[in-house]
Parts: sequence; C-alpha cells; structure tokens
Amino acid sequence: MYDCIIIGSGFAGATAADILAREKGKKVLVLEKRSHIGGNCYDVEDKHGILIHQYGPHIFHTDNKEVYEYLSMFTEWYEYSHEVEGYIDGEYMPVPFNLNTLRQVYGEEKAKILEEKLKAAYGEGSRVPILELRKNKDKDIQDIAEFVYQKIFLKYTMKQWGQKPEEIDPAVTGRVPVLISHDNRYFQDSYQGMPLRGYTPIFEKMLSHPDIEVRTRVDALSVLRFRKDGVILYNGRVFNGTVIYTGPIDELFDCQYGRLPYRSLEFELEYLQKDEYQPKAVVNYTVSEDYTRITEFKKLTGQKANGTTIMREYPRAYTGEKGQIPYYAISNAENNRLYKRYKQLAQNYKNMYLLGRLAEYKYYNIDAIVARALKAARNL
Ligand code: FAD
Ligand code: UDP
Repeated sequence: MYDCIIIGSGFAGATAADILAREKGKKVLVLEKRSHIGGNCYDVEDKHGILIHQYGPHIFHTDNKEVYEYLSMFTEWYEYSHEVEGYIDGEYMPVPFNLNTLRQVYGEEKAKILEEKLKAAYGEGSRVPILELRKNKDKDIQDIAEFVYQKIFLKYTMKQWGQKPEEIDPAVTGRVPVLISHDNRYFQDSYQGMPLRGYTPIFEKMLSHPDIEVRTRVDALSVLRFRKDGVILYNGRVFNGTVIYTGPIDELFDCQYGRLPYRSLEFELEYLQKDEYQPKAVVNYTVSEDYTRITEFKKLTGQKANGTTIMREYPRAYTGEKGQIPYYAISNAENNRLYKRYKQLAQNYKNMYLLGRLAEYKYYNIDAIVARALKAARNL
C-alpha cells in the first residue's frame, strides 16, 4: 500500500514526505507518536488566543536560498529580525555581545578605544567565539573576554548543559559569537522571519498531498519491527519500501548499548494581563535565575492580543522517563562513539535512512534539517 514509511512529522519527516509524494509520485505513510504534527516546531493558540510555541521559541533564519524558497511555497513571512537581550546585574544588554554592548558596559570613551583594539585584532564585522577571544594576550581584550565569559556564558551554559563553556563542544558556544559590529540581531543570516500564520499551517500544507497519509498518536516502534537479519516488518509483514526514521536512534534499538545522553527542558507558561512584559521577544538570564530565558510570544509573532503570554525555560537532565523529551544531543567524543555504534546497527537495514536532529544526533537548526531532507528525499 505504501512506498515509504516516515517516522516523525517534524521538519525532517514533513519535508521528506512532501518531496517523495509531490516530486516522486510515492505513496507515503507518516507515523507520529504525539497528538499533533510538526515535531518541536509545533505552535498553537493558548486559551487566551495567543499563539505559542509549545516546545520553545523557534525563529526561522537561513543563508540557504533554496531552503527559503522551498518553505516559502508553504507560507508567507512576517518580517522579523530576532534580537535578544541579556538581563545582567539589573540591566538589559544586547546579546550576542557586540560593540553596542561594549559601549553599555564600558561607557562611550573607554569603549571607543576598546572598539579600535577589537577591530584591529579581528577585523570589523567579524564573529569571534568566546573561547577564541579568551586566548587573546592583550590585557584589555582579556578584560572584555572575562566580562563576556562570566556575565554571558558561564552561568547560562552551566544551567543549559550542566557543564562549563570550555567543557562542551566549542561549536555550541560558537553559535553565539562576540560580534565586532553594531548589529544587535541574534542571527546575521540573509533570510529571517516568522511564518505569518505560524508553523503548524506549514506542516498541514506540507503533508496535505493526497498520497500522504498521516497517523498521529502512533508510536512507530509499536507497528514496525526491525528484525536482526535486516528485514523490517510493518504490522507483522515484510516491508520492502523505504523507511525514514527521524526519532532518537537509541530507542530504535531498545537502548541496547545504553541511552544516548541528551538535555531536556521544562517549559513554564504564564499569561499576564498586561500589554507587554519585557523589552524583547527573548531575554536571556545569563547571571541569575534557574531558567535560561523568557520568551514573550507576541513580540516574536507580531500578534495583537489582549494580555501577553510568556514562557520560562528550565534545562533538565534527560532520563528517558515517559513524557520527557530529548531536545539537545550532547555532542562529545564519548557520546559520538556511542552514536556510531547505534548507526552501525542501523546500517544493517538497507532500506532505512536516518534523518533529523535525533536520528543523526546533531544540533541542527530548521534550515539545516530542511536542506538535508530535501537532498536525501531527492536522492532516494
Ligand atoms: P523533531 O522536530 O524533534 O521531530 C521528530 C518527530 O519524531 C517528533 O514529532 C517525535 O514525536 C517523532 N517521533 C520520535 N520517535 C517516534 C516514534 N517512535 N514513532 C512516531 N513518531 C516519533 N531551530 C531554528 O532554526 N531556529 C530556532 O529558533 C530554534 N529554536 C529551538 C528551540 C528549542 C528549545 C529546540 C529544542 C530546538 C530549536 N531549534 C531551532 C531546532 C529545531 O527544533 C529543529 O531543527 C527541528 O525541530 C528538527 O526537526 P526534526 O524533524 O529533526 O525533529
Ligand atoms: N549561550 C550562553 N549565553 C547566552 C546565549 C547562549 O551561554 O546568552 C551559550 C549556551 O551554552 C547555549 C549556546 O551558547 O547553549 C548556544 O546558544 P543558542 O542561543 O544558539 O541556543 P538554542 O537557542 O539552540 O538553545
């Protein structure tokens, strides 16, 4: 009945389903264990009519024209440039740390001198990871690096990962470099914005092709069996079509080598009867509080509504307990080795492909996963 079975309806699964059905004429079954489509990008109105992102704030940004044009087939965009402020010792300051933050911290006169030093050392417009900046031998630059490390990275990273910045994969803190510019935007990508009517309608459109059937509330591992001899069974019968798996790879194999480590999150929503709560859509709490950040959704989506809904994010260790969601792969040499062992098991199944943040154990943004899914589905 189906040519392909796709497990998971986030951007990995939905993009693959769309391409396989629309461009390749395949009959596709999408299995999703949650009660809704969209994976972690799912959004929905809360009981006050305010559009919220149930699994944390998602801002689309990319330099990849193909991905932008592809997603633009499913949505118009609300032109939004994401800016974040850090709440640091009672003051709001632009994050990533940039030359405007420098001015706020050091005052106009001193900042002018420091600005010239930074430009001479790294070049105007450059992006310097904090761990790189800390290596600079100049006394003044070391002083700036110390401020950024202590006031922006240390506590936030301890909350988010339970480890210090120098203990985690440098690519993670490198996502938020020190900017040698006056650009207050969080992302410098050429395309950025929010889907005009939200993310969920994008998924509804992507999965609307008549040759795509979507079943929610179905744990694929309850209907598919991965036999040791490399054969996949669907409802007890051999399935020779293509299987695309976008869930956690360890669960696919019953966590037989032990659980792959992830970080999880707990979200606390609060509705307030006031027009606005904070200066920007996202405020990072980099030196205080147990939560890492607060998102005020109206400021992200541009929605006009009475009152405002905010979301606090509390990082948590992931235990695999029922209901807990693995949000972030923890990339390090040991975990990546464990991932490879699972990947080797997966290679036993010639008609199965691993795709997505969980199946590939990678810190992919939306654009990266859409790009990968487009390529994978077109090459199948
Ligand atoms: P997911 O969205 O996780 O989808 C996987 C799906 O598979 C889920 O729906 C899951 O229920 C389903 N599934 C798993 N196992 C099974 C099973 N056994 N049976 C059936 N279904 C199953 N990216 C950005 O570009 N911008 C942002 O601002 C941004 N913010 C983020 C904020 C947070 C808090 C997090 C965690 C991520 C953020 N991301 C952001 C990244 C973005 O969420 C991912 O790139 C994207 O969701 C990856 O899509 P995916 O399909 O790989 O995974
Ligand atoms: N980070 C930090 N302070 C900040 C922002 C980011 O220490 O104010 C670090 C932290 O380790 C975080 C990483 O940089 O996990 C990447 O930040 P990003 O905002 O990209 O995280 P995401 O939105 O993916 O959770």
